[in-house]
Order: sequence, then C-alpha cells, then structure tokens
Amino acid sequence: MHKPRAFVPQAIDLGDWPQIEPLFDQLEERATRCKSAAALERWLLDWSELNAALDEEASRRYIAMTCHTDSADAEKAYLHFVENIEPRLKPRQFALEKIYVAHPQREVLLKIGARSIAPPEAGEGSRSDAPRSSLRYEVFDRDVKNHVELFRPENVPLETEEAKLSQQYQKLTGALTVKFRGEEKTLVQMGRYLEEPDRALRQEAWELVAKRRHQEADNFDDILDKQIRLRTQIAKNAGFGNYRDYAFRRLGRFDYTPDDCKKFHDAVEKHIVPVQRELQAQRRAQLKLETLRPWDLSVDPLNRPPLKPFAQVGEMVSRTQKIFDSLDGELAGGFRQMDDLKLLDLDNRKGKAPGGYQSTLSESRLPFIFMNAVGLQRDVETILHEAGHAFHALATRDEDLLSYRSAPIEFCEVASMSMELLGNEFIEEFYSDADARRARRVHLEGVVGVFPWIATVDAFQHWIYTHPDHSRDERTVAWLKLMKRFGGDVDWNGYETARANLWHRQLHIFLHPFYYIEYGIAQLGALQVWANSKRDKAKALGDYKKSLALGGSCPLPELFQAAGCKFEFSGKTIQPLAKMLREELEKL
Ligand SMILES: [Zn+2]
Repeated sequence: MHKPRAFVPQAIDLGDWPQIEPLFDQLEERATRCKSAAALERWLLDWSELNAALDEEASRRYIAMTCHTDSADAEKAYLHFVENIEPRLKPRQFALEKIYVAHPQREVLLKIGARSIAPPEAGEGSRSDAPRSSLRYEVFDRDVKNHVELFRPENVPLETEEAKLSQQYQKLTGALTVKFRGEEKTLVQMGRYLEEPDRALRQEAWELVAKRRHQEADNFDDILDKQIRLRTQIAKNAGFGNYRDYAFRRLGRFDYTPDDCKKFHDAVEKHIVPVQRELQAQRRAQLKLETLRPWDLSVDPLNRPPLKPFAQVGEMVSRTQKIFDSLDGELAGGFRQMDDLKLLDLDNRKGKAPGGYQSTLSESRLPFIFMNAVGLQRDVETILHEAGHAFHALATRDEDLLSYRSAPIEFCEVASMSMELLGNEFIEEFYSDADARRARRVHLEGVVGVFPWIATVDAFQHWIYTHPDHSRDERTVAWLKLMKRFGGDVDWNGYETARANLWHRQLHIFLHPFYYIEYGIAQLGALQVWANSKRDKAKALGDYKKSLALGGSCPLPELFQAAGCKFEFSGKTIQPLAKMLREELEKL
C-alpha cells in the first residue's frame, strides 16, 4: 500500500459483497452532508480509495489466474469477483456519479483548486511553464458528467444485444481452424507460416486461411449489419444524428474531431504511403519478385533465420536493465525496483495464459508486467513497450485521485511507443551491429506500415456510420476505395474477394467501434519524442518524464505539450516525421 487507508477498513475482504456494500451506502449518505467544496473533495478521495482497493483486488485475482492457469482456486477466485462483485459495483458506481454531477458543491469545487503542478524547473525553455488552461477537477468532472449525460435506460437492452453480437464475432473467429498438412491449426497458428522462406508454402498457408474466412464471409457481414442498426439506434436515443458523433462523445474525444481524423487520413496518404511503397519496392527487389503478393509481406526479405536476442529470460531482464541504465537513471531505477519486488512475470512456461499485458496494482500504485518471452525480437519490443506503460504508472504514484493515475489511451501509448524507439537506440545490448540494424529496421518498417492500416480502418468506420443505410455492395466499394488509397503496391490479382473482405479480421470494427486511431495518434507523439531526443536527449527525456507524471489530470493537448509534442495530426506534423522515418531507414 502506497498510502494508509483513510476510509476503507484495514481488515475488509474485498471479495465479499456484504462487506463492500456498506461502504457505498456510507458514501451515498455522506454526500448529502458535504456542505463545502473541501468536504466534497474528501468524499471524492474516499470514493477513489475504495475504487483503487477494489481495482487492485480484481487485478491481483486476474494476475494470479493468468500466472497459474492450472490452479482451480485461482480461477474460482477470479470468476467469483467477475460474477458476484463487478455486476453489483456497476449500478453503485453510477449512482455515485449521478450524486456527484448533481451535487450543490460541485461548481464551487470546480472553480477552486487550480491544478497542483510542480513549478517549472529553473533554467531555459522548460515546457512546463506553458500556460495551463484547466483546473484541478476539470478533466474528472468532464468525464463523469459525460458518462452520466450519455446514459439512456432504453439503451441498456440495446447494449446487451450489441454485446451478444460482439460475443458472436469472437466465437466465430475463435472457432476458425484449417487443416494444414494433416494437422488442425488455428488461424493465429497459421500466421507463423507467412514468415517461412519457402514461398509456395507461404502461398498455400495464406490461401487456406483466406478460403476458410471466405466461407464465413456472410456471417461476418450479418454481424456488422446488425451492429450498425443497433448502434445507429443507440446514438439516436442519446440525441445524436449518427453513431460516429455519439462514439466520439462516448470515447471522451473532447480534444479532436472527425475532421481532425480526416486530416490524419489525408496526411497518411500523402506522406506515409509513399514511404510504404518505397519499402515494398525494396522488399520486392530483395525477394527478386515481379510483384508482391499478400503472402510476401511478413517473410524476411533476405531469407535469414529469425533474430535471436537472448536464450534465457534472465538475460532479457538484465539486458533490458542495461538499456535503461544507458537511457536514464530514474527510469532504470524504476525497472530495477520492479524486478526486486517481483513485479515481472516474463517467461513462457506451462500453466501460464498466453499473451502479454501490463497491469497496475491501483492501491499499491505499482505496475506489473506479464509476458510469454521465448527469445524473439518481438519479445524485446514487448518488454520495452510494457516498461513504458510501467514507467507511466510509477510516475503517477503521488497522485491521490485514482482516475488521474492513468491517462487516456492516446497518451498511454505515447509512453510505451516512445520507450520502444528510445530503447532501440541501445539494442546492441542484445545484438551484433548487423543484427541491431536489422532489428531496428524491422521495428521501423512496422511503424511505417501501421499508419496506412489505421487510416484505412478508421476512414472505413467514418464512412459506415455516416452512411448507415448502405448496402453490402456499397460497403465493399467504399472499402476497396480505401484499399486503393492506403494499400500500397500489393498484387491481389485473382484474390479480389479476399481483398474486399480483409476488414473481417479487424476485431475493433466489430467489438470496439472507432477505437483504433488512438494508436496512430500515439505513434505520432512517440515519433516526436524520438525526434526531440535526437536534438536534445536530456530535455526530451525530462519532458517525457514530466508528461508521464501528469497522469490523466490534463486534457490531451496539454499532455502532448508537456511531452514536447504537438497534438495535431495533419501534414504539418506528419510530413517531418515521414522524412525522419525515411532517413532513419536509409541509415539501416
Ligand atoms: Zn500498449
């Protein structure tokens, strides 16, 4: 525990609803007695303390389960929380939100208490001396009010329906397998074959997957058709003209508009797609091919065996530690502390869930990293990325309001993606000079390649929800237009249907509508942090750390500004970054 509890009893069992419920009763009852802004602030902090304790309880149970999938007790404890505690929490939380929004002291609280921000450091050009427009509770207030205002009881059954369709998509996708060389394989497992040097084998694997997906094409389209109808109705019920505008509000996008996203699409087309095409031309030449086919995009273009950055996870940790030692003493200390406190569970072993994540123990105010490292370059990228998230959590430890200890995703990913770029500068800890260049190149090619895909997926959804009455054929035409704009030089001849249905595999379109461009916005921030570090490393890192420490207490433009970045997605921002990417790639 970072701070002693002031409200939640020391001995409480946070998996037992009868012990939790009275705390919500107390908060509801006490709210009426808050006769000053200070009393309301104390109330907010007690509510926050309760939420942090509950959040940590959930995280600890999740971590225990994913680290010990063979433990029936761990699974039971986790499911107990999900099934018996979380559904009861939801209405109680919403009731407190409504009480807050209607509270007579709210306006007073909002006016006082300018945000407490460390004074700018002595010395030249510190960005933290920039004027700050918002007040201490402005962001919190805006988010809670937004959540309360968007609620419509008539949308509850529609949202249940929507969740069921999402589950159908997951079920459909999860069940897809193919028979490959006598063995049943999931589509995820099939992805590995696209990295095989044997081109005929790649083609066979790719075709098999495309064919399997094609068999379900109508099902995917059905699910989205139903979702579009539901979502359009949900938006109408909430008083919006279309679902796009509703989604922007629901995702808390107060600081950018659909028009900003359109500028992002245009700038990606103009400045990034040409770089992408150059990379594809190089790849084509290296592979000695006439045209690049969809199965030629993941293989190493020189047919080299995979990079081998380390053999043991212990090596991965000690070399990552050295990278941070070279980068910044404070960050290095944070990573060392995590290792000392056993907040890293990184090796791939039996009885562990797949994948990787960073989780925060909200009451202890400590990060935890979970991974399944097996000795690939991907693992190095992942540990640097997740360490960036962990540094973000460590930087906000002194913030008492739980919701300000985390930032919006558009900025969280700046923290993590910047760390990939900054950490890669010292990647010789893992590799020979030649392999280090190769690793950097793979990473930067990935950075270039993700922008056009993000623009495609985002622009597609803008089109879908502003044309809610479209036919499937019209939707296909809209998609293919975007593939032409952003798809680069890939030869789809003979595979036109697969190309037209490519969006079926993008789960966000089905499960998290409009949530995707966040990664593009964050990557722009991360590239700016990297560009700054090339000019003045100490200042760039100082700004980076200062911006992380702000957590979620400021609106996005201020977070970006504190990190030394512009919050702007047009060609003005993207063109110089595209130029830098091209130059850096040429060096490799
Ligand atoms: Zn991340």
